[in-house]
Amino acid sequence: MGDRSNGIAAADIERALEGGFASFRLPADIEALYREDTVAEQRSSVALNMIVVVLLFDSFVLNDYFMLRDDFTVYLIGKFLVVTPVCLLCVAMLKRVASYQFALWLFCVTLAGTLSAMLYVSGGAYRGNYLFGLLLIMVGAVALTRPGLRCALSAILVQCACFATLLFATDIVPPEGRVVNLLFCLSSSVIAAFTGYALETVNRRAFLLKLRVQLLNRDLQAAAVTDPLTGLGNRRAFEEATQAHWSRPSCEGAWVSLVLIDVDFFKLYNDTYGHAAGDTCLERVAGRVLDEIRGSRNLAIRFGGEEIAVFMPGKDFAQAHRLAEAIRQGIVAAAIPHSAVGPDGILTGSFGVASALTGDCTALDLFKRADAALYAAKRNGRNQVWPARIGTWTAPVEIEWGARSAGRIVA
Ligand code: GH3
Ligand code: MG
Ligand code: MG
Repeated sequence: MGDRSNGIAAADIERALEGGFASFRLPADIEALYREDTVAEQRSSVALNMIVVVLLFDSFVLNDYFMLRDDFTVYLIGKFLVVTPVCLLCVAMLKRVASYQFALWLFCVTLAGTLSAMLYVSGGAYRGNYLFGLLLIMVGAVALTRPGLRCALSAILVQCACFATLLFATDIVPPEGRVVNLLFCLSSSVIAAFTGYALETVNRRAFLLKLRVQLLNRDLQAAAVTDPLTGLGNRRAFEEATQAHWSRPSCEGAWVSLVLIDVDFFKLYNDTYGHAAGDTCLERVAGRVLDEIRGSRNLAIRFGGEEIAVFMPGKDFAQAHRLAEAIRQGIVAAAIPHSAVGPDGILTGSFGVASALTGDCTALDLFKRADAALYAAKRNGRNQVWPARIGTWTAPVEIEWGARSAGRIVA
């Protein structure tokens, strides 16, 4: 499915499926995905079909020799200097999504067009028999290469024009036989067009159903690691991120940081403004956090209640402290009224920061450390980042750290 499906929702697919036969008109992004998918799936079988058709076409050369000996050169040139090279070019063009449909169109048109031209310029008495071959090629080429609807219709139109020119601009068919031959041609074209249309509908519906399952799966996977209220990651996301980080040997010597955030006096906020207002408030705080980490590898998680964490792989204490301070100031700048904490009270948050070399601690160690720092921030008066300043801090709780980062751990 790839990155291209990022902007597509399962609901878009539902709508397209409801369109029934109208699902031919897919929105541009879904259409692009369909093309890519179809091309990938059909390319090799269509290429094989093309080669078989050309071989069959060329194999009539013996018949040309005996039946149309006077104009044999015309048939040789048409087959081996026009049809074969152009069709091989079409096979090569199938490789690119952008030229895929054009390659199918060119293939259908070249076969019918060249045979028509060969019959047009040659004068053999038996050439009328080749009209059946022309009809076969018209229907066969479209059916075996399965072009999209627009491409099929336009190829059929060109093929019909070639057939009609032969009928009315040459004496291949006597005047009284022209109409019936034209009817044969039109009937074959309708059958080819209808078959192509039906096939395309089936293909598109199958593609949409497959895409819907893939998108629903993607949504389910995303929902499993997302907090529904704030859109931040949840504990599972945190576990997955930390497991991935600690299992990467290349991260062993790298810094890793964790910022824990707890909204101050949030119970009071709920009691004063109601639970719904509390929810809105949490969304705003989460929004501030997301604003600050946008574009980075940091992961914001709602741990539950009014507690948020930012996991910062590859970031040292100074970077983590800077981020925490920026978020804290952002919450203050939002000036969300909290009258229960004072006459001009606003909502604030307390922050605990911890950093270490990955190889010297576990995710749990880091969490315990950040949690201890958060409680120190609460005890110290809230609305602050703890440790308060880089370099002048002593640990609030003793935690055994590895020898390698001894003396370098600042929180
Ligand atoms: P402190 O400054 O010490 O952190 O005090 P606090 O009141 O923020 O902390 P406490 O743990 O006493 O209260 C947390 C409150 O968060 C209690 C609960 O009602 C509220 N809470 C937890 N989850 C949600 C939620 O999803 N929505 C809302 N609106 N409130 C929630
Ligand atoms: Mg709390
Ligand atoms: Mg709180």
